[in-house]
Amino acid sequence: MSGTPSPVERGRPALLPADGERSYSFEFFPAKDEAGERRLWETIRRVEAVAPTFVSVTYGAGGSSRSRTIATTHRIATQTTLRPVAHLTAVGHSVAELRRIMGQYADAGIHDVLALRGDPPGDPNGPWVRHPEGLGYAHELVSLVKEVGRFGVGVAAFPEKHPRSPDWESDIRHFVTKCRAGADYAVTQMFFRAEDYLRLRDRVAAAGCDIPIIPEIMPATDVRQIRRFAALSNATFPELLAQRLEAAREDRVEGHKIGVDHATALAERLLAEGAPGLHYITLNRSTAALEIHQNLGLTRARLSAAARARTEEAVA
Ligand code: FAD
Repeated sequence: MSGTPSPVERGRPALLPADGERSYSFEFFPAKDEAGERRLWETIRRVEAVAPTFVSVTYGAGGSSRSRTIATTHRIATQTTLRPVAHLTAVGHSVAELRRIMGQYADAGIHDVLALRGDPPGDPNGPWVRHPEGLGYAHELVSLVKEVGRFGVGVAAFPEKHPRSPDWESDIRHFVTKCRAGADYAVTQMFFRAEDYLRLRDRVAAAGCDIPIIPEIMPATDVRQIRRFAALSNATFPELLAQRLEAAREDRVEGHKIGVDHATALAERLLAEGAPGLHYITLNRSTAALEIHQNLGLTRARLSAAARARTEEAVA
């Protein structure tokens, strides 16, 4: 839709499978300390066993976390068989810095970026302040990434509307601007009701944009944590699910099962409705995301017997 050559036209395979095959991906965040790094890498290796389409690494609000994103993505690109997508946010960066980071990604063999505006550091709902030499919106970052190099570019989509958008009409209009700037696909914010995703997809299609919108799957296994995340991301957390998780508050095994079952049912419905894939939040722990993947029968469909044995071992 942008008129920019696609990754295939540029001689590199596109990130998402062609011919209607679905994309399955897993999201990590850069670890903060050595113990976290060990856990992250155990998770990465377990996820590698199910041969996902790609994995992504989030980009933090501060300096050291940002360099850890670059380091983690680099290591994934050079030491695993996985295809990494690096998140990149415009907030707090000048255009020159953004160009430099993209140069670092390209040097590390990373050619896929999720281009985001980012939230203000500290209070994500606080006033947005544009860097004096930076960008104001994600569509400008999409244009910059496309201008700087041969990157595949994804963007964010919001099944319940971006919290800063005054209405749906402007929300969809600005989303379409990101498509026109050259976005190849979108990944959604977390959500817990299939209808929210389906309505967004219909609204985007009605506005003339046909990029794949991959739903993000967040296993809700810990009620306190999920309420915090849902409040931060503005996602409606279904009351019935909240009550069931509250009732299982002292029983971690039961809470885990409730969250995995709910996410499996949501993912099943989304795939039945034609979603182009699933993007699993892992929180750097693989168990819930891999269980959902296995519940859906996806590992069986996609993997050789040897890889399947590894997956079952990883989930056990
Ligand atoms: P934009 O598309 O720029 O939209 C922001 C707001 O501005 C919207 O209300 C939009 O409608 C409006 N808008 C857009 N263009 C215009 C215009 N031209 N004029 C007026 N209004 C306009 N954050 C991180 O810090 N690190 C991460 O790694 C990260 N990963 C994420 C991954 C996913 C899948 C998602 C969904 C979000 C992620 N975020 C991350 C959060 C994201 O940065 C925030 O939600 C941010 O507020 C929105 O970013 P955006 O790219 O959608 O912004």
